[in-house]
Amino acid sequence: AGEIEFDNVSFSYDKRTTALSGVSFKVPKGSSVALVGESGAGKSTILRLLYRFYDLPEGGGRILIDGQDIRNVTQKSLRAAIGVVPQDSVLFNSSIAYNIGYGKFGSSPEAIEEAAKSAQMHDRIVTFPDGYDTKVGERGVRLSGGEKQRVAIARTLLKNPPILLLDEATSALDTSTEKDIQKALQNLVRGRSSLSIAHRLSTIASADLILVLKDGQIAEQGTHTELLALD
Ligand code: ADP
Ligand code: ADP
Repeated sequence: AGEIEFDNVSFSYDKRTTALSGVSFKVPKGSSVALVGESGAGKSTILRLLYRFYDLPEGGGRILIDGQDIRNVTQKSLRAAIGVVPQDSVLFNSSIAYNIGYGKFGSSPEAIEEAAKSAQMHDRIVTFPDGYDTKVGERGVRLSGGEKQRVAIARTLLKNPPILLLDEATSALDTSTEKDIQKALQNLVRGRSSLSIAHRLSTIASADLILVLKDGQIAEQGTHTELLALD
């Protein structure tokens, strides 16, 4: 599973503004698409519609996953297939392991450790021979922005969805954190279909396809090399 298609998608939040207008593109299974464009261009709306945070109206085009209109998929199975890594994750005031494993019933301590490792959080996790502790240890609230993002990445690794929606943080991060996040993101994105609101040059440069949005439309698209050649 994991092929995504937007087919002539138009969407308005209210009568006065058009958030998306006639947007069509495909994310082949396992490939990465970076959404770039100014604030208000429609990037977040694309992610919200795919997650069915809002539904497309009749005549607003179609969104398909593996050829199936997402309006015919239950919200539950849609959300099981999609992992979301937001810009700012809110964490429980509890251990890192608890935050990684929260809601993932039956996750073994080994699986949590493995996810933490892939998300470059291994050195921060506190484990015990009889399982992971949910109360003592590192507290979520004391994590930096970059660490919180890696906890969200580890949670998503544990969920293991075929599709990913990523909203990269714009906040300046120090170089070592930046490297760890890049590595964690690489581990997460590998083998999955992903749509990213991209701010990092590394994410944009490594994407299989870049969509440049402007006023709710795709103004340009191509690989990094193709888009550079246009300038
Ligand atoms: P981006 O993510 O590229 O910054 P958005 O998808 O958030 O852009 O916004 C696209 C357009 O839709 C903008 O004109 C924005 O003002 C409008 N918009 C976004 N969210 C809402 C909302 N909840 N209610 C009304 N208008 C919205
Ligand atoms: P899944 O990844 O299995 O879909 P979610 O991340 O959607 O699970 O979490 C399930 C519910 O728990 C959601 O309602 C979400 O808002 C809430 N939740 C998840 N993680 C946190 C957190 N760290 N802090 C607060 N609420 C959370």
